[in-house]
Amino acid sequence: MARHLAIVAPSAAPARKQRPRWQSELSASITSVEELGRVFRLSEQERRGAERAAQAGLPMRITRYYARLADPEDPACPIRMQCVPSSREEEVDPSDLEDPLGEVANEVAPNLVQRYPDRALLLVTDQCALYCRFCTRSRMVGDGKGPVPDRSLEAAFDYLKAHREVRDVIVSGGDPLSMATARLVRIFERLRAIPSIETIRLATRVPVTMPSRITKELVTALKPFHPIWVMTHFNHPKELTAEARRGLLRLIDAGFPVMNQTVLMRGINDSAEVLAELFRGLVRTRVRPYYLLQMDPVVGTSHLRTPLHVGVSIMKELQGRVTGIALPKYIVDTPGGFGKVPHGPNYVVAEGPGWTSFRTHRSDAVTYVDPT
Ligand code: SF4
Repeated sequence: MARHLAIVAPSAAPARKQRPRWQSELSASITSVEELGRVFRLSEQERRGAERAAQAGLPMRITRYYARLADPEDPACPIRMQCVPSSREEEVDPSDLEDPLGEVANEVAPNLVQRYPDRALLLVTDQCALYCRFCTRSRMVGDGKGPVPDRSLEAAFDYLKAHREVRDVIVSGGDPLSMATARLVRIFERLRAIPSIETIRLATRVPVTMPSRITKELVTALKPFHPIWVMTHFNHPKELTAEARRGLLRLIDAGFPVMNQTVLMRGINDSAEVLAELFRGLVRTRVRPYYLLQMDPVVGTSHLRTPLHVGVSIMKELQGRVTGIALPKYIVDTPGGFGKVPHGPNYVVAEGPGWTSFRTHRSDAVTYVDPT
């Protein structure tokens, strides 16, 4: 019996490289008031906030993934409050600052900020997968400039080469993981070519807002530049989805330690129960809750800011209630760029020469005596 062989003609055009899923997801983000109104039943405050964001200030961009975590009916949903603009962003409190961390004043080269002797912050893009309504860098993120061109980072690399006291470089923006992997690799290659840089930190909220970005290809491309520590921002237990956890574990299994900085926000996570659930969930995923950050006094965010005593009393409730590895430091980044200070409940009730009395989390009074 004659066999008929199918002959496949070679394709005339070379196969087109498929666009990574995360890039399509990024392009499909919600950026207009009309789309926002199709996804959420908007309050008047949100509608006016979104209209304003289209004209001025921090723009709006919400990934479809993150929007799916939010309650479409409830404007007080903690996920929604982090991503949907509010007309309250127009309010300016007397304590608000454009640049609360004094980054402009501490710029030592274009796109490079140094606020501590051994650390520097390299700002590589103004874009993010999602524009968080509490962003400390709202003065510059989403400005439309995009990734900083290679040549514009040269002065920063020269500075780092000349200043050998800088051992730790934080690659931030914007969100560096909104950039193409090849571009990131070029930046990491340049940093790793400077022998005095010991650690590199990658500051990203993508594990929270678009975990599909944490691909095998990304992890494989960045792994040769270890040690790279990933600093992320989970703020609410609803953000710890199965997909987010898969992304985190992919990083952790590839040797990237992941540290989390939670921003304390009014109506979003200002309760010991919510934070205990978040911190325990992070630890189960092998992520270290590193800082609970008092919100920076950035213009247009005072409606989300809690008074300091709220953070102190939450830390008091958490002490002794959650395991030490799930307990972050409560940190105030002092306004004006003067650096971070740890803050928290005061357990010392009295002290004298060679002795100190404490009140423990169980309200016991205990005196510690120094060795003679
Ligand atoms: S991802 Fe980071 S830089 Fe971007 S808007 Fe959110 S907090 Fe700001």
